[in-house]
Amino acid sequence: MLDRLDDTIVAVSSPPGYGPVGIVRLSGDDAIGIAAQVSVLHTAKPLAEQPGSTHATGEVLLDRRLGIPATFYLFRAPRSYTRQDIVEIHTVGSPAVLDSLRRTLIELGAVQALPGEFTARAFLSGAMDLATAEGVAGVIRARSDTQLRASRRMMDGVASGRIKAIRDELAELLGLVEADIDFVEEPIEFIAPGAACEKLDSIASRLQDLSESATCVERFNILPHILMLGPPNAGKSSLMNRLSGTRRAICAAAAGTTRDILSAPIRLDRGEAILLDAAGVDGCLDDIATLAREGTLAAAERVDAVCLVFDLTAPIDAGFVERIRRLAVPRTLVVANKCDLVTPKRAAEASKQLEGCGLGPVCTTSALDGAGIDELRRALTEAVAEQGGTTLGEAVLITERQREAVHGAVSAIARASALARSAERTADCADVLAFELRDALDQLGAVSGDVTTEDLLGQVFANFCIGK
Ligand code: GDP
Repeated sequence: MLDRLDDTIVAVSSPPGYGPVGIVRLSGDDAIGIAAQVSVLHTAKPLAEQPGSTHATGEVLLDRRLGIPATFYLFRAPRSYTRQDIVEIHTVGSPAVLDSLRRTLIELGAVQALPGEFTARAFLSGAMDLATAEGVAGVIRARSDTQLRASRRMMDGVASGRIKAIRDELAELLGLVEADIDFVEEPIEFIAPGAACEKLDSIASRLQDLSESATCVERFNILPHILMLGPPNAGKSSLMNRLSGTRRAICAAAAGTTRDILSAPIRLDRGEAILLDAAGVDGCLDDIATLAREGTLAAAERVDAVCLVFDLTAPIDAGFVERIRRLAVPRTLVVANKCDLVTPKRAAEASKQLEGCGLGPVCTTSALDGAGIDELRRALTEAVAEQGGTTLGEAVLITERQREAVHGAVSAIARASALARSAERTADCADVLAFELRDALDQLGAVSGDVTTEDLLGQVFANFCIGK
């Protein structure tokens, strides 16, 4: 990516599949020249003479012959996402049209963009730092509100801002140590070993605090997990199928049908969650059932929320309620299912009784006819909304990659501090001290991308999709 900044790159930037509009994007010195060769505009001025930040309608020529309606959006350097000339061609959202256009533009001199290469160019031109670019990748991938907000906060670059301030202090210290190397013959000392040590220890402890208090953004990339728990036959599998809109789980009148833990993604009011359906927990049928039951209970302590399903036509199993109370379950929600089989009066009484158990808010549903399912979906949204969401407002977010870089810097600073501690004069250890400080600076530089290697860029931008 670094060695082809002079090339003009092209990619289909709209999502795969059919849509009302598809986008092909070009970035680079020849973007306008190449796009001009496939454009027939309705305006008198040809594309190459259009000003920046403008758009012009007309036709795009596939294979340089077949005209298809299109709008050309033009952004001239440096006022564009990549700070290079960019042309976006918005045309019919058909995969065949977009692919043919992409191939035509390649024939005219553009090269196929790699995943994330547009954002890599934005980073390399100084339009954003690496942490912000990682935030952009997160925003594109976000599947829930929480993930979206976490990625937006990454783009704010709070962590990289703090690290940059610490880097400046380290760079200043390195300047003093280097001065001690340059003026080794002189009687003056630019920084005494004790003062260097004190400064280094303070920097290391601030970095350590930052790394420990920061929340890893990868944590938000995991969708919340909700486990359905309840006696066999309460309707867990039916509810799972109803909520996920699939027939993922087998529903049967015979108790104990579900033995393994099944999972299906479900759409909540804000984002998605993974719903798990496991073996019922109060029927001890045989050895396999017992094993399955133990697995279910263990899983209950690891998920984000548990949805307790009761059958309104059966008496409440006090033993089951007691067992749930003893578990370290994070958040519970109660479902009184099969309301279609009882009178509204009986459903209300049973719901009240379940509320009295103090296990969580109660939703009355019928997996059979869909009654109460919207309310259940809302209650599930509430139950997992706090998963990482409440503290997100203040949390400093870093990626695993950034955390590793901070740890590397802390180790280098600790080595530097140990050297300074054992020296009488800074000049005695200045060379090695400077080496360790440069190492720490490089590690911290990798957080914001001030110090990068082709490998590092490859790793970060490989997470993007092509066209972004
Ligand atoms: P699980 O063992 O808890 O997973 O229960 P299932 O989902 O397999 O359901 C057990 C039986 O109850 C099946 O025959 C379902 O068709 C039936 N069932 C589940 N939910 C309802 C419901 O809301 N109303 C009625 N009438 N039957 C239901």
